[in-house]
Amino acid sequence: MNLFSSTTNMGLIVARMLTSVVLSPHMDDAVFSIGGTIGNLIIRKERVVVYNVFSVTSYVQNPKLRIAPFATTMRYGEEIVASILMRYNRRFFPFEDNYMRKNANPAIVTSRVEKSIRKNLNFDNPVRVFAPLGVGNHTDHKLLSETAMKLVENRTIRWDQLLLYEDLPYSAKPNAVEKGIQSFQNKFGVKLQPSLVDVSAQFTLKMVVSGVYRSQYDTQDLRDLKNYARSLSQGANQTSEDRFFERQWTIVSQ
Ligand SMILES: [Zn+2]
Repeated sequence: MNLFSSTTNMGLIVARMLTSVVLSPHMDDAVFSIGGTIGNLIIRKERVVVYNVFSVTSYVQNPKLRIAPFATTMRYGEEIVASILMRYNRRFFPFEDNYMRKNANPAIVTSRVEKSIRKNLNFDNPVRVFAPLGVGNHTDHKLLSETAMKLVENRTIRWDQLLLYEDLPYSAKPNAVEKGIQSFQNKFGVKLQPSLVDVSAQFTLKMVVSGVYRSQYDTQDLRDLKNYARSLSQGANQTSEDRFFERQWTIVSQ
């Protein structure tokens, strides 16, 4: 086998792998919210690409370290380590997060974000796209769920390719998901239905990788992730304490 034919074969292998794209507002949301689901897909030999959309940031938990180049670099480092441990592909988009773009026009930001994501989706050609549901009313999360619905509207993706994930740790707060679902359904005039994903086999990995984002969480946040994943097992009629779930929502019909 010469070099040329082996390169060609590799190309075919990559082309045949099913790809999922995860739209992640910040460098941590994908793993916190659907790290177990990402783990399941990778075990099934699928390719997962995480789009870190608002990756220019000054936000870290420690107020003394909130200096943009420093915070951005630190968070890039965390995301690179997380992606290596979990074996997903990552892309960094050059958009400022909500803390930095204080006076920017939201319509212009949304349109730039949408255009850039569309270009990358056309390249990655995913079979499914995960986007945040927007639980917790965080501006960047809401902006990204809106962008996902725009991508459906302009037929970049089909409505049945879109899975809306519950933003964590915000979804662990009482009634937060119910409110998030209500507000999403009202805003976009659609009906959503849940699907539970058993992530028990990947849950230890998810918690280890979540721990990489040291600049972003306190220990209570990690406890919330775990308790929430366990609480969803009740909806799945599981009685064992050792089952962990994540939940995504799909559009019923259009
Ligand atoms: Zn976030």
